[in-house]
Amino acid sequence: MATDDAREVSPAPRIEDSAAENALRPHSLSEFIGQERVRSQIDVLLTAARHRKSPADHILLSGPPGLGKTTLALILASEMEAPIRITSGPAITHAGDLAAILSSLMEGEILFLDEIHRLPRPAEELLYLAMEDFRVDVVVGKGPGATAIPLQLPHFTLVGATTRAGLLPSPLRDRFGFTAHLDFYDENEIAEVIRRSAALLGLEIQMQAISEIAGRSRGTPRIANRLLRRVRDYAQVHGSQILKHSDATAALSMYEVDELGLDRLDRAVLLALVERFNGGPVGLSTLAIAVGEESETVESVAEPFLVRNGFMARTPRGRVATAQGWRHVGHEPPAANSTGPNAINGVLFDMPASDA
Ligand code: ADP
Repeated sequence: MATDDAREVSPAPRIEDSAAENALRPHSLSEFIGQERVRSQIDVLLTAARHRKSPADHILLSGPPGLGKTTLALILASEMEAPIRITSGPAITHAGDLAAILSSLMEGEILFLDEIHRLPRPAEELLYLAMEDFRVDVVVGKGPGATAIPLQLPHFTLVGATTRAGLLPSPLRDRFGFTAHLDFYDENEIAEVIRRSAALLGLEIQMQAISEIAGRSRGTPRIANRLLRRVRDYAQVHGSQILKHSDATAALSMYEVDELGLDRLDRAVLLALVERFNGGPVGLSTLAIAVGEESETVESVAEPFLVRNGFMARTPRGRVATAQGWRHVGHEPPAANSTGPNAINGVLFDMPASDA
């Protein structure tokens, strides 16, 4: 399967991103751009915890990749002046791994558990007791002679992060005192992220270049920062001291990221849908064969963005291109031949369709 990681517009972190991302991460709540509601909720939570002089409630951060969940967890730690331990669901293979981490935490420490929806079942069950009673039962021995020895834990704050809150079992979800849902950023906020990052990188950048990059960043700070680095590299190679609009357009078209943030695969999917299947409906596997990709790649990589932004829709009869999808690849959509505003080729669909 072609992975999402190879794409400039992938919201998933890459190895090459990590050093650059750490350098650009905001360190305080006031530096964190956008997400006003979440920021003020967390601010209240932290202020109250500081007043009580006790660790904050467990916090669940949910939302698509690249929107700032890890950044917020680090900010929580620095605002609480608490140490932070970072791990992730897939890194914990046995309940014992988690018990070892929990029992070595310090009073008030923050445990950041990324991709918490991928925690193995036994570890998840162990977490229930740990979150609620700050206790784990360590099982000693095997079979009928096995005994559970309760082990008291320090008061810690669990910060869980997930891209799939819907996959969390409710007993786990319910044990979080507070859930913050991060949403995609609007273009002004992304422009602000780019302006801030450019300043930190010591780059001079024109306003129009900022807007150009912002428009192609899919509402995701991680993508914005990555595209900014691409434009910086391009400008450097071409001897520009200041990052200009022309550097942004040239660099991003070189990386095949178009003016709305669609990349080669996104456009190939749309184009196949429109030109080969007359806008659909067509089944996922047929569509995937038409673009020479695995169904899974099309479904998990291209489709969420195309659906969320109203270029295509999922219907019970298959995938269809929306009017906006037709136009984006340079074709006029056929006149609606069914009732309702969101009908193409006789197929009704909801707008905006779900991104799940
Ligand atoms: P997630 O954990 O949700 O995948 P991260 O917290 O790792 O995302 O964020 C990715 C990068 O985007 C960070 O390195 C940071 O530089 C940048 N970023 C995320 N959110 C913001 C924000 N609100 N303001 C400024 N930069 C941000």
